[in-house]
Amino acid sequence: MNIHEYQAKALLRSYGVPVSDGRVVFKADEAKSAAGAMDGPLWVVKAQIHAGGRGKGKFVEASAGEKGGVRIAKSVEEAADHAAKMLGRTLVTHQTGPAGKTVGRIYIEDGSDISRELYLALLVDRVSSRISFVVSTEGGMDIEEVAANTPEKILSFNVDPVAGIQGFHGRRVAFTLGLEGKQVKQCVDMINKLYKVFVEKDAEMLEINPLIVTTDGDLKCLDAKMSFDSNSLYRQPDILSLRDESEEDAKELAASKFDLNYIALDGEIGCMVNGAGLAMATMDIIKLYGAEPANFLDVGGGATTEKVTEAFKIITSDPNVKGILVNIFGGIMRCDVIAEGVIAAVKQVGLKVPLVVRLEGTNVEKGKEIIANSGLNVIAADDLKDGAEKIVKAVKG
Ligand code: ADP
Ligand code: MG
Repeated sequence: MNIHEYQAKALLRSYGVPVSDGRVVFKADEAKSAAGAMDGPLWVVKAQIHAGGRGKGKFVEASAGEKGGVRIAKSVEEAADHAAKMLGRTLVTHQTGPAGKTVGRIYIEDGSDISRELYLALLVDRVSSRISFVVSTEGGMDIEEVAANTPEKILSFNVDPVAGIQGFHGRRVAFTLGLEGKQVKQCVDMINKLYKVFVEKDAEMLEINPLIVTTDGDLKCLDAKMSFDSNSLYRQPDILSLRDESEEDAKELAASKFDLNYIALDGEIGCMVNGAGLAMATMDIIKLYGAEPANFLDVGGGATTEKVTEAFKIITSDPNVKGILVNIFGGIMRCDVIAEGVIAAVKQVGLKVPLVVRLEGTNVEKGKEIIANSGLNVIAADDLKDGAEKIVKAVKG
């Protein structure tokens, strides 16, 4: 689960990590008093969306020369004006995809005087199963670009979870970043705190780009992007309360409410499968026959008719879906339950695209009978290959 910059900064602040003073604004008429709560002389007005690259982003239907999602203001009035102009509009950055994201919240922040922009991130390194630091002097820009063109400018190291974070980690970061004097102490302190918040809150990723050295020579986090392990949210109620459902894919959100493992993709063939492995194999074989899956969906082992109906509704709500492949191997899941779910769903939402159903396993005969007697226009398939071939043919001709 992702959170907004202002929420991440509030969390960091609560751990004693240096961030700027700021106020979040949901409506344009709140902007003036929010900006007025800070002394200036510089305000930074920042669109809050779950994506980076806002500064270089572009608003849809931007006027000529209009600035992106991070704007500097020199007065309270100007800050309020920027906020009013950004709220409710769609911001496109290299991380949002071409559709962009609607700006529903603005963060108005105290402007900093920047001497250097650095890069710092913590993430879970899946290879070593440890928390990894990624550090670079090349902050403020695309770290992917730095990694591609000048990888030697990136330092990365893991932390032993038993020994935990140590002073030498912070000093290593400080020397890599060329920090001096009081900054070294600040850096060690910051690294300890970032590691602490990361572990205690079950974070998956914490990216500070840029981490800055101010003209006064102090370290400060100027941007913060943070995401958390969704499987740990049951024990992180304070993090869960930061969830902004408007940032999430509507289909994925609906799926999560019914405990379905669904991930939206860009293809044209909707998939309803039981078991993550079979779902992956189904996506592969669809590609093999020349089409693209519209989603990953594992309905799980103990799905009910109701759950299958919801899954079907989610798949058909995707306008890109030109055909649906149901591929069920009934083990714990019974084929007749799936068949009933599919029929109930089709009766509720209608069927405007071809539907191929492949059933195998427990109660398969009963399942096939239910579908055959339903009077619905369903194409039956015998095995995985047959199912994939038939749905691709039905969609692509
Ligand atoms: P994004 O990464 O989404 O573009 P950032 O928060 O990193 O957004 O802001 C982009 C740039 O704007 C930063 O690299 C920095 O130069 C500038 N900036 C952001 N916040 C402030 C601030 N509080 N004071 C001064 N400059 C800022
Ligand atoms: Mg940034």
